[in-house]
Amino acid sequence: MPPVPTTFYHPRYEDYFFGPQHPFRPSRQHMLLDLLEALARAPDPEEPAPAERADVLAVHDADFVEAVETASQRNGPAPGRRYGLGRGGDTPAFSGMDAATRRLAGGTLAASRRVADGEATVALQLGGGLHHAHAGRASGFCVYDDLAVAIHHLLRNDLRVAYLDIDVHHGDGVQSIFYRDPRVLTVSLHESGRFLFPGTGFPSERGEGPGEGTAVNVPLAPHTTGERYLDAFEAVAAPAVAAFAPDVIVAQCGADAHMKDPLAHLALTTHAYESLFRNIKALADKHAGGRLVATHGGGYDLDAAARVWALALFIFTGQSLPEEPLPETWRERWRGRHGTAPAATLHDETTPDVPASEREEIEAHNRRAVEAVRERLQGRGLADE
Ligand SMILES: [Zn+2]
Repeated sequence: MPPVPTTFYHPRYEDYFFGPQHPFRPSRQHMLLDLLEALARAPDPEEPAPAERADVLAVHDADFVEAVETASQRNGPAPGRRYGLGRGGDTPAFSGMDAATRRLAGGTLAASRRVADGEATVALQLGGGLHHAHAGRASGFCVYDDLAVAIHHLLRNDLRVAYLDIDVHHGDGVQSIFYRDPRVLTVSLHESGRFLFPGTGFPSERGEGPGEGTAVNVPLAPHTTGERYLDAFEAVAAPAVAAFAPDVIVAQCGADAHMKDPLAHLALTTHAYESLFRNIKALADKHAGGRLVATHGGGYDLDAAARVWALALFIFTGQSLPEEPLPETWRERWRGRHGTAPAATLHDETTPDVPASEREEIEAHNRRAVEAVRERLQGRGLADE
């Protein structure tokens, strides 16, 4: 019998909190866990220990870690702006930040340990996905890079890692940390950096030195629908992973490419996410012995994020999808908290409204992007002719 899938979550994930007005809210995970409970599908997650300082130092610069520690003290001095933690920025320092971000990194690290030890083939971190954190600076709501900490652990166990990033934003932090490492393939599909933070993630970014060819980026046009997104995934991610032949897949499953997300402009539905999760699972099964570590990530429409992450959990752990409407008690409870009721069904009942006049331009943009990536993949023997 294959080892059972494992999930990781800790109530203290909510300590990672930039304040009530900040979009990166712990209630995103509360709403998901409450939904799973209401559906009688509560996953009974294990509670991970925080990552150790040494785990963090394996991928982050010592002066940056010291800056985070100092900035974490109550009434501590303001960190230098070069560390990305300025009070006016999008990742402002807060009291207890070092411990809180190590706690999140600990969940992703625990998931990777479980898979590296062979005790699980699939391990899910119900949080984390802080893919913008760089070796030497915080960025985009991300302090320590839990994904890089986990990938580093897999590398130490001689496992080759294919990292798939489906967050709507480019996975720039993870890419930069492993840019010269031939043992890590990073693949990111995202809204083009011409239109969206962090402004990077173009086909010309392909890795460097011994890692040349192991960074793959697909910048998509605003308003790209799920169908076209899935075409791009099929044309680029699937052949790149197949050719790389990883031992394990690490997936950052941001929910902010959903059409309702307030911070970005792609137009995926939950149906598209379902296909995407099935494709990722199939890639793991076919090319990585089923080994898959998955995290959450961005996702700022709370209702959409809860439903997207419920789908990820059901599909990655091999469960059937609930057919019935979502429980009224759950909808009422969250209507009370947010003022608007969540959707009545797990899947969206509407489709994105993309004007016909824009469709041609979107498709032309995406075709060019996919062709540019595929040319480079073929140059490296990473795609079929
Ligand atoms: Zn994002």
